[in-house]
Amino acid sequence: MKGITKGLAHTLRNMSKKKMSYQYPDEPVPMPDRFRGIQKFYPEKCIVCNQCVNICPTDCIQLTGKKHPDPDRKGRIIETYDINFEICILCDLCTEVCPTEAIVMTNNFELADYSRDELFKDLQWLDENDTNVREEN
Ligand code: SF4
Ligand code: SF4
Repeated sequence: MKGITKGLAHTLRNMSKKKMSYQYPDEPVPMPDRFRGIQKFYPEKCIVCNQCVNICPTDCIQLTGKKHPDPDRKGRIIETYDINFEICILCDLCTEVCPTEAIVMTNNFELADYSRDELFKDLQWLDENDTNVREEN
């Protein structure tokens, strides 16, 4: 009896307090500003310098580039950009070295899928991954 009374008192005391839980997935979970979530890629900013590929500790980035189609312009533009999220450890190194901020971390952490093949994300998918792009890179 004493236990039930104690439990009820605890419940009543906490009923009016601010809720600490979220109705996920119906309600999005707010993540901290520096959260390292799945990358967003801006193809138009990429200069195909390969720095992200070279620094990646798990070799999960693959990219190809081509000569700029405008003969008056120097440099290369990105053709394909893939990240294998089976082995990406979301360490943030690729975004730290990118000189043009073509790749940035987001607050998106939802990658669960039924097939491992779905964890290979291409340029178009990464370009469209606009969920809560981190303001500060
Ligand atoms: S976050 Fe780290 S592991 Fe993932 S692609 Fe970037 S450098 Fe590689
Ligand atoms: S470091 Fe940035 S600019 Fe260089 S290839 Fe990677 S995404 Fe493109």
